[in-house]
Amino acid sequence: MKPVVVVGGGVIGLCTAFALHQRGVPVTVIDAGPAEQAASHVNAGWVVPTLAEPVPAPGLIATSLRWMMQSDSPLYIRPRLDPAFLRWTLHFWRRCNPRDFLAGTEAVAAFGARSLALYDAMREAGVRYEEHHDGLLFAYRTMRALEHDYEALEPVRRFGFEISPAMSGDDLRALEPSLAATVSGGYWLPRERSLRPDTLVRGLVAFLQERGVDVRQDTAVCGIETTGKKATAVIAGGRRIPAATVVVAAGAWTPRLLKPLQMQIPIEAGKGYSIDLAPAPALPQPVGRPLYLHETRVAITPLDGMIRLAGTMELSGLNHDIRPERVAAVARSAGWAIRGWPEQTPISGAGVRVWTGPRPMTPDGLPVIGWLPGYENLAIASGHAMLGVTLAPATGEAVADLITSGRAPDVIAPFNPARFG
Ligand SMILES: Cc1cc2nc3c(=O)[nH]c(=O)nc-3n(C[C@H](O)[C@H](O)[C@H](O)COP(=O)(O)OP(=O)(O)OC[C@H]3O[C@@H](n4cnc5c(N)ncnc54)[C@H](O)[C@@H]3O)c2cc1C
Repeated sequence: MKPVVVVGGGVIGLCTAFALHQRGVPVTVIDAGPAEQAASHVNAGWVVPTLAEPVPAPGLIATSLRWMMQSDSPLYIRPRLDPAFLRWTLHFWRRCNPRDFLAGTEAVAAFGARSLALYDAMREAGVRYEEHHDGLLFAYRTMRALEHDYEALEPVRRFGFEISPAMSGDDLRALEPSLAATVSGGYWLPRERSLRPDTLVRGLVAFLQERGVDVRQDTAVCGIETTGKKATAVIAGGRRIPAATVVVAAGAWTPRLLKPLQMQIPIEAGKGYSIDLAPAPALPQPVGRPLYLHETRVAITPLDGMIRLAGTMELSGLNHDIRPERVAAVARSAGWAIRGWPEQTPISGAGVRVWTGPRPMTPDGLPVIGWLPGYENLAIASGHAMLGVTLAPATGEAVADLITSGRAPDVIAPFNPARFG
């Protein structure tokens, strides 16, 4: 029996393979590697379905234009005279309005509502990875910013997420004593959690391989063979691999794979950076819970034996160039919020690793999941932007439903690839 071939072995491809395997569907995963360059390795590891807002938000046009001039800003857009990028940018800016923002938030919240339960099910099935259940804490320097963001959580409440009341700086410090007096308030998501990204990828690969699934790493797919409305095989490592169905889950690389099929799915790379400090800097109070620092837009995730700082968004094409000013901005970011944080956070040397990886960004901020227009058995699962870890198990379930029933579940209707024509 020909397998479903999943192209891409980041969290999205692996969770898709997991869900298919659980349904008894033969599956092969092919990943180009190196794994450390994928977004699935670099991220902050937050499973945070409450933060369902798409990236294009009301007010972001003015902010992004201002930040464009500043190469160490949280969102940096490097202007490029590439027609596809210009179309993407215009589409993105058009979506920065309250109506699309609300519709997108509700669609993603509905999709992510089962994320925590699906992660629990994956662990129960035997997938092993490092996970922490300390909640997620959001810290603000100004009450105005806190009030604005807290109000924006209103539409997601009906999906059952547990959100603490808005808290004063002192109440927040009682929960997380590492916070400095400059933090004036915040809120807490008590049930949401964090994990160590590379252990999740390795845990899924090990789970699948132990059960006989063919997971080919460091093998690039260089073509998808089609006949009429059908994908018949993929070409990888100099071989033709026949496929019953092909799922393209190649993150920010997805457009490159689809281009030879004359398919233009608008996905740009939103490069992010992370800095691992192992061990974590010595502080009067060690950081005990994952923290999001609103003003600098950086997530701090304490993990076993280390701490990870992750953030920033750079739209500069698909590359892994490390821009020192952006690494320095991430490194500096913790200083205002954490008591005793070193003035010069090390960004090189023993115990320090800097990573960069591309978030797959659609212009409307929503994932792209479903059959590709014109094909009966060629699916796409990509475009998860800031929420790929959070939405990976739900994506796996949805793609497995799509393949086994032939019909897209209602919850992924807003993510239909056909919306891009
Ligand atoms: C700094 C940062 C922080 C983040 N924090 C969070 C967070 O806290 N929570 C959250 O939910 N999300 C977070 N994200 C987003 C999340 O990491 C991504 O949405 C997610 O990892 C995307 O997964 P993916 O599998 O689609 O893509 P990737 O992880 O990029 O994987 C794509 C894979 O496709 C493979 N590939 C490419 N081309 C080919 C080819 N030709 N043949 C075969 N394979 C190919 C690549 O090798 C790669 O392994 C963060 C991202 C970044 C960068």
